[in-house]
Amino acid sequence: MDILSRVEELSGENLYACYQCGKCSAGCPMVGEMDLLPNQVIVLVIRGDEGLLEANTPWVCAQCYQCGVRCPKEVDITKIMEAIRLITLRKNEDHIRLEKMRKNLPQIAVVSATRKYTG
Ligand code: SF4
Ligand code: SF4
Repeated sequence: MDILSRVEELSGENLYACYQCGKCSAGCPMVGEMDLLPNQVIVLVIRGDEGLLEANTPWVCAQCYQCGVRCPKEVDITKIMEAIRLITLRKNEDHIRLEKMRKNLPQIAVVSATRKYTG
């Protein structure tokens, strides 16, 4: 299955509804840390460019729902980011090493990180 079909299936979103107005990216609080803008992620998924799986954007996304609220086409990018993370996680690769994590992190941060970043 190609990446567009997988993202559509996992997110339940219609990516073709996006008309690239950029309102999602303009309101995203994490965009300064992202190597791809949220609206660019949609373009790459539609193009079937699996190179986007190497981008930090889905991992930097704070799941704040701001983009979906601002979108005039009701595209929920939060779900799309989650779908992209799932595609990567289902490769069963770990993206953090517990033994290398800083000591004395809040427990909730450790639990959240292991959910998001381990296979
Ligand atoms: S706000 Fe919606 S329509 Fe506009 S670029 Fe973002 S996802 Fe696409
Ligand atoms: S859910 Fe993610 S992509 Fe959307 S505005 Fe929040 S941080 Fe940005």
